[in-house]
Amino acid sequence: VDVNKEAAISEGLLDKQDKFQRRMDIEFNLRKAIDQQEFRLVYQPVVDIVTKRIVGLESLIRWHSAVLGHVSPSDFIPIAEESGLIHQIGEWVLRESCRQNMAWQEAGLPKMFVAVNLSRRQFMDRGLYAMIKSILVETGLQPQYLELEITESMSMGVKLVADTLSQLKMLGIRVAMDDFGTGYSSLSYLKDFPIDKLKIDQSFIKGLKIKQVNAAIVNMVITMARNLNLLVVAEGVETEEELQVLQECGCRFVQGYYFSPPVQAKQIEDILHQEICV
Ligand code: C2E
Ligand code: CA
Ligand code: CA
Ligand code: CA
Repeated sequence: VDVNKEAAISEGLLDKQDKFQRRMDIEFNLRKAIDQQEFRLVYQPVVDIVTKRIVGLESLIRWHSAVLGHVSPSDFIPIAEESGLIHQIGEWVLRESCRQNMAWQEAGLPKMFVAVNLSRRQFMDRGLYAMIKSILVETGLQPQYLELEITESMSMGVKLVADTLSQLKMLGIRVAMDDFGTGYSSLSYLKDFPIDKLKIDQSFIKGLKIKQVNAAIVNMVITMARNLNLLVVAEGVETEEELQVLQECGCRFVQGYYFSPPVQAKQIEDILHQEICV
C-alpha cells in the first residue's frame, strides 16, 4: 500500500500514544501535587458596572508541576474528575478560598464573596455538605461570602445535586449557574436547581455588538433573569464595546480581562487598597 498512508496511520497511533502518555503523566503527578504544594489560587474580580466596585472574586486554580511545568485547569480538571482526585483538590480549593477571603476581611478590606467552581463529581461525595459546613466553621467565614459555581453538565444525579444545593443554600451560601447558555437544557436546570445567579458564557459576549444575535440572546437572558429574580454576570468581557452593549442590555455585573485577568492574592490586596482610597 502507499507509504504516505502507512505513515499517516502510524502517526495517528503515535498521537494517541502521546495523548495517553500525557494523561498518565498528569494523573501520576496530580497525586502528589497537593502534598508538594504545587497548587495556587488566582482570583478574578466581579465588577458592579453601576458602582464600579468589586463585589466578589472567582477563585481559579493554577498548577505548576515540578515535572510537567504549568498545566492548564482545562487539561487537568477533567483528569482529576475521572480519577476521583477532584475530591481532594476540590476540598483544598474550598478551604483555601474561604481562608483567603476571611484573611482579607480580617485585614479590614471591603467584604465580598468568593466564588468557587465545583465539579459535578464532588456532589457524588455524600460528605460535601458536611465538608463545606466545617470549612466555614474552621475558617470563620460567614456563609453569605461564599458562592458556589456549578455547570450545566451536572445532569447526572440531578436529585442529589439539587438536594445538596438546597441544604447549602439554607446555610446562606449562594449558587451560580456557570457557562449559562452552553448546555443542552439550560432552562430545565433553572427549574431543577435552586439558583441565585446566572453567569452568561463568554462565547455570547465575544465581539458583542448591538443588533446582533448574541445581543438578542444576552437581552433575553437578562429579561428572563429579572423575572425569575436571578442575578446575572457576563463573563469574558474584554472590550469597551462589549461593556457598552452589556450596559445597554441592563447587565449589572461583569467579569473579564477588560477589568482584570485572574491575579494572585497579593495583587487583589493592592487593587482593593486602591479602591478604599478612591
Ligand atoms: P470557568 O469557570 O468558566 O472560568 C473562566 C475562565 O475564563 C478562566 O480560565 C478564566 O481565566 C478565563 N477568563 C476570564 N476572563 C476572561 C476573558 O476576558 N477572556 C477570556 N478569553 N478568558 C477569560 P481558567 O482559569 O483557565 O479555567 C478554565 C476552567 O477550568 C474554568 O472555567 C473551570 O471550569 C475550570 N476550573 C478552574 N479552576 C477550577 C477549580 O478550582 N475547580 C474546578 N472544579 N474547576 C476549575
Ligand atoms: Ca466559573
Ligand atoms: Ca464560566
Ligand atoms: Ca467554562
